[in-house]
Amino acid sequence: MKNFQEKISEVVIRRLTDYLRCLNYVKQEGKTLIKSSNISTKCGLKSSIIRKDLARFGVYGIKGKGYDIDELIKQIGKILGLDKTKNVVLIGAGNLGTAIIKYPRIKNANFNFIAAFDNNSDKIGKMINDTQIYSIDKINKFIKKNKIEIVLLTVPVSETMKIVDSLDSKFVKGILNFTSVILPPKKNNIFIHNIDLAKELEVLSYCMKKCTL
Ligand code: NAD
Repeated sequence: MKNFQEKISEVVIRRLTDYLRCLNYVKQEGKTLIKSSNISTKCGLKSSIIRKDLARFGVYGIKGKGYDIDELIKQIGKILGLDKTKNVVLIGAGNLGTAIIKYPRIKNANFNFIAAFDNNSDKIGKMINDTQIYSIDKINKFIKKNKIEIVLLTVPVSETMKIVDSLDSKFVKGILNFTSVILPPKKNNIFIHNIDLAKELEVLSYCMKKCTL
C-alpha cells in the first residue's frame, strides 16, 4: 500500500467506508475473493470509481480474480486508521445521547465506547444498558486515565462551546458534534465533524430537485 501524501476528498473516504461494509457482508457469506463489479452491485457505484478509489492508495486487485477480501478489509482499515482501537465517550445522555448509547453498532472492535457524561444529578451514577453515566465534572480526569481520543457531543446548543473548549486536547483528537452549533473542522487541535439530520434533509431535497430538472 502506498504511503500517501495526496489530498483525498472526504467523498472518497466515505466511499471507502461503504466498501468496508460491503466487504464484511460478503465475507460473512464465506467468499474470499471479490471483483470490483461485485462491490459495484452491492454499493451501487461504478466499478471504475471503486478501482480508482483503491488505486489512489496503491491497492490493486489480481487480474481476472479481483481483490482478496481479507486483505482488502485490512488495507481499507489501515487507510481509515482502524488498525488502532480508539477509546470513545459521549457527553449529554439525553434523548439523542441515549439513542446513540443504545445503538448496538456503536460498540465495535475499532471504537471502544467506554462511558457517558452528564450534568444532571438524576442521571449521574445510572446505567443506560451497560454504559455508566458519570458527572461531567470528572470528564478530563477520566479522559486522561482512559486515554479517550473521541468524544460524541449531544448536549444542548448553549453548552456546546463551553464543553468543546474544556476538553483536554492532549488526549481528545476528534469530536463528533451532533448539536446544531456549526463548529469549525478543527478547534484546539481537535478534528470536528458536524452531524445534522436537518442538513442531510436539505441536501436530499437538492438532489431530488436536481433529478426533476
Ligand atoms: P436533551 O435535552 O434530551 O439532552 C441533552 C443532555 O445533555 C441532557 O441529558 C442534559 O442533562 C445534558 N447536559 C446539559 N448540559 C450539560 C453539560 N454542561 N454537561 C454535560 N451534560 C449536559 O436533548 P436532545 O434532544 O438529546 O438533543 C441534544 C443535542 O442534539 C441538541 O443540541 C440537539 O439540537 C441535537 N440534536 C441533533 C440531531 C442531529 O441530527 N444531529 C438530532 C436531534 C437533536
